[in-house]
Amino acid sequence: LLNVTDLHKSFGTNKVLRGIDFSVRSGEVLALIGPSGSGKTTALRCLNGLESPDSGVVSFAGGPEVAFQPGLPAKKAQVLRDRSAMVFQGHHLFPHLTVLQNVTIGPLQVQRRPREEVMARANELLERVGLEQKSSDYPSSLSGGQQQRVGIVRALMLQPDLLLFDEPTSALDPELVGEVLSVIKELAQEGWSMVLVTHELAFARDVADTVVFMDDGVVVEHGPAAQVLGNPTHERTKAFMQRLL
Ligand code: ATP
Repeated sequence: LLNVTDLHKSFGTNKVLRGIDFSVRSGEVLALIGPSGSGKTTALRCLNGLESPDSGVVSFAGGPEVAFQPGLPAKKAQVLRDRSAMVFQGHHLFPHLTVLQNVTIGPLQVQRRPREEVMARANELLERVGLEQKSSDYPSSLSGGQQQRVGIVRALMLQPDLLLFDEPTSALDPELVGEVLSVIKELAQEGWSMVLVTHELAFARDVADTVVFMDDGVVVEHGPAAQVLGNPTHERTKAFMQRLL
């Protein structure tokens, strides 16, 4: 579904990505893990053009033959952007719009899809995440976990091929983490393709097919989740796991 090849990105003299490669198959759940500052979020943001890499290629299968490369014209970049949708760390909801308006504004105003279809799908998805009673409420009246579930519905509403999650539970109170993780797990079981940046290693073990361990801007280890998390082969991965125990 997605191929990432030799991605480089610097902020000033800070070389954050120093040649990242990985790929995602259709239906695969890939967890990106690694120490703080290793470049995970930057790599994720390069997948949908929130950051543009200095060099390297991000390309989706089955689409037009374009890839995120430096200097890609805006129109072509948009075609690529439409292939994925990001669920952010915080909630990033529009405070002045209701839950229903938040999840339908993209499909209606940007994608210009038919209103009836969009509303039906929004209601169906809100019901699925247990928020059908909240559709007329404003984000400020929801808990963090509820807001994050709205964020997930908003991403699903865009009909992406790939869902991107940037530490989806790190801004939540501990008692609200479970409800968000269980929605993500259900989506994984339904066959959604996803890339998740996460610090929740137990969750990664539970839900991810593949784990990529990044350190200092490079991929140190990449393999089946059980192997990378349970029996890492590289010293740096082992040291990272041990620090977390
Ligand atoms: P964390 O787990 O703490 O979120 P991370 O592995 O996701 O870390 P990144 O957020 O990708 O790491 O950041 C990697 C480095 O890039 C950090 O040193 C950060 O300060 C720097 N960085 C990220 N975004 C920017 C930016 N927009 N401008 C300047 N520096 C940035």
